Order: sequence, then structure tokens, then C-alpha cells
Amino acid sequence: MTTPPAIRIENLVKRYAAPKGGEGKLALKGVSLDVPQGGIFGLLGPNGAGKSTLINILAGLVTKTAGSAEIWGFDIDRQTRNAKRSIGIVPQEIVFDPFFTPFEVLENQAGFYGIAKHLRRSEQLLRAVHLADKRNAYSRTLSGGMKRRLLIAKAMVHAPPIIVLDEPTAGVDVELRKQLWDLVTALNNDGVTIVLTTHYLEEAEELCDEIAIINHGEVIAHKPTRELVGMTREKIVRVSVDRDLAGPIMEEGFVKAEVVDHRGLEVTYNRDRMSAGQVLAVVQSHGYTIEDVTTREPDLEDVFVQLTSAG
Ligand code: ADP
Ligand code: MG
Repeated sequence: MTTPPAIRIENLVKRYAAPKGGEGKLALKGVSLDVPQGGIFGLLGPNGAGKSTLINILAGLVTKTAGSAEIWGFDIDRQTRNAKRSIGIVPQEIVFDPFFTPFEVLENQAGFYGIAKHLRRSEQLLRAVHLADKRNAYSRTLSGGMKRRLLIAKAMVHAPPIIVLDEPTAGVDVELRKQLWDLVTALNNDGVTIVLTTHYLEEAEELCDEIAIINHGEVIAHKPTRELVGMTREKIVRVSVDRDLAGPIMEEGFVKAEVVDHRGLEVTYNRDRMSAGQVLAVVQSHGYTIEDVTTREPDLEDVFVQLTSAG
């Protein structure tokens, strides 16, 4: 028996209304996607790909044009209430009433979900996102990072089994990004299924077990992170030679060749067409003596560039 997915999306289409009649933007072109339970799932794509549209349909903030979605087994149209209770969304835009304190923000949210006073977890949630000392501060006095953490706590108020974070680290400094990653990882260790959208490849590669890449409203890849990284057919070899290079050596079979630091040549080649040994032989045939060789495994960025630039 297989575990049912945390989220199931089938043929989701979204066409935004055009401002003055006309066609309108087709933001999702029939997206189908299963998000498994228990992991950290990355929805990756460049700006404008349709990530927020997809998230906002699940959140009930945007109405879909066609298709269906289930959250924790609940259909978003027919079992809306249960679907909404099963998911916590951390939106891309930070929106708060600036005059409420973090504690009040969480209490109001608990009230919205009809959670009885003695069952509320506001203090515990503030501690979890390291905001206990800001309990009574006006939300408008919080830094951007603190606001984002408060939004995460707010999404957790009703203890949903799924938390979705839409670009949690966009425009966030390195230190805070690390904090958010730790928070997301801790939540996941507690059994919460995490979905995050990002256009930072490094982030997705570090955090996510499974990744879907979306581009122009279509899923163009969906695989475990490890497989996705291994998908690229390109490899990179860097060669140091005994004297300054006159220029890049280009050869049929090389995808790209660049001179780095005068005596270094970085060659990207297609591993289906040649081997590292053949690359070295080409360099030697131009009269250079090779002093050092390093190879670099392709990373998610390489895959991303290949996939999104194809076609
Ligand atoms: P992402 O989150 O991946 O950056 P979005 O889902 O925000 O992408 O946007 C997808 C596409 O839909 C973009 O072309 C965007 O301009 C368009 N879009 C988003 N929101 C609206 C809206 N409210 N009205 C019209 N077009 C929109
Ligand atoms: Mg977005």
C-alpha cells in the first residue's frame, strides 16, 4: 500500500482576466503534480513561472480556471473547509495589521480557526520562531526577518500537517536565511510536510528531497533532488597548463570553453559525446603541458539552465 500524497494537483489551469477584455495571461497551462507526505518539496522556477498562482489556488486566494486539487485527501472545491484546515500558507508578501503584537496576531488567527483558548499554542509558537521576547511589540516595529518568522508561526496556529512557504527567503540576508532553513528543517523533523517555492537553486538543492521545476506555467521536470542533479548530460573539467593560454581552445564536442586566470581552461563537455581523457588530449594537442586537472560535478543550477533554456 502506498501513502496517499499530501497534495494532489490535476490539470490545473489558470487564466487571469485581462484588464480590458482580451485574452488574459495563461499562468498555469495544465499542471499535474503529487507532493508526497513527510518531505520537503521544492517548487522551483524563474520569476513569473506560476509558482505563487499555484500556491494561491491551494490557499483559496485565487480561483482556478480548470482542473482539480486535493489537500490531505480533501478536494478544494467540495471539501473546502477540511482542505483549508490541512494547510498553512506563508505568503510571499508580508501583510499584517501593524498595530497588533505578535502574540495578538497568533491569538486572532486561533480565533479565526475557532480554536478554544485553552488549546491555543501562541506562546509555544513564538518560542519556536524565536520571537518570545517580541511577544508584546507592535508588529510594525519588527524587522523584515522577524515578520517573516511571525508569518510562519501564524501559518502553524491550527497545526496543519502541511506548511507551504512561498519564497520564504527572497530578499533575506544570509544569516536570516540560515535561520529560516533551520526552522523549516525542524518543522519537517516534527513530521510536517513542507512545500517551498524558491528561485534560489542552492536553497532547493540543500533543503529539498524532491523538486519540481515549473517554467511558463508548465512542469518541465519533477524528480528526487539527487536524480535531478544527475540529469544533466554536461560535465565540467578545469585544466591548468604550463603557460599563458593564447585563447580558449574550442573543439567540436565542447559545449563551452573559457580561459580563467590566464593558465586555466574550463571546458564544459557533453558526457555522451566525449570523455575527460579526450578533453585533456585536445588541450595537449594544442601544445600545452597539463599541470593540474579538477572536475566539477554539475549542480542544480546547471540542470536548471539546461532545462529552462531548451526549446
Ligand atoms: P511566480 O510566483 O512564479 O513568480 P506568478 O504566479 O506570480 O509567478 O505569476 C505567473 C504569471 O501570471 C506572471 O506572468 C504574472 O505576471 C501573471 N499574474 C500573476 N498574478 C496576476 C494577476 N493578479 N493578474 C494578472 N496576471 C497575473
Ligand atoms: Mg511568486
